[in-house]
Amino acid sequence: MADEAGQFVDTIETSNADVWGPIFQAQGQRYTPPQAIVIYDRATGTGCGTGQAAMGPFYCPADRKVYLDLTFWNELESRFGAKGEFARAYVISHEIGHHIQTLTGASDQARRQGARGAESGSVRLELQADCYAGVWARLAPQASKGGIAINRADIEDGLGAAAAVGDDAIQQKTQGQVMPDSFTHGTSAQRMRWFGKGYDAGDPGACDTFGARSL
Ligand SMILES: [Zn+2]
Repeated sequence: MADEAGQFVDTIETSNADVWGPIFQAQGQRYTPPQAIVIYDRATGTGCGTGQAAMGPFYCPADRKVYLDLTFWNELESRFGAKGEFARAYVISHEIGHHIQTLTGASDQARRQGARGAESGSVRLELQADCYAGVWARLAPQASKGGIAINRADIEDGLGAAAAVGDDAIQQKTQGQVMPDSFTHGTSAQRMRWFGKGYDAGDPGACDTFGARSL
């Protein structure tokens, strides 16, 4: 299982590098991929403290690594009802989106805007990472030498995953109610909207969640 997941993760990581390399280059900058995408079981040490399966996938800016736990990997299908490989590709690309935000400085900007609440810097950061995943989905088929093929059904899977991991969906499943004050990722509708914006534009310029009047 871990091997299979590892291969899949490598493919998506390479594909993201194929998409983001030229975008950075066009702006006179250089894209450097995350240091690693780590798949772990139960718990692992990270540059950001102990990673635990209950935390879900995350990016650690201190060591520039993406951490995915096997439980989440499996639960993406069974618990949240998001199906298909594209849903997993979306999650990896979202986390790589956080890496891109570290490279662009958006993460620092978000920290200055505060971490909690429906309009916080942290929500804007999450929605921007969703938008970046959309940009990847749009450009991957042309950009990837490995020939990543993405069709309409895949996109719907991706949007389903975006919705399934929206804070409101998760809170309803885990607490039985929605509490907007503790939103850190944005609602399912917002996540689908920003993924779609990135996909439709195929350009990270469409992902300015910090300048957006409404999310
Ligand atoms: Zn995120």
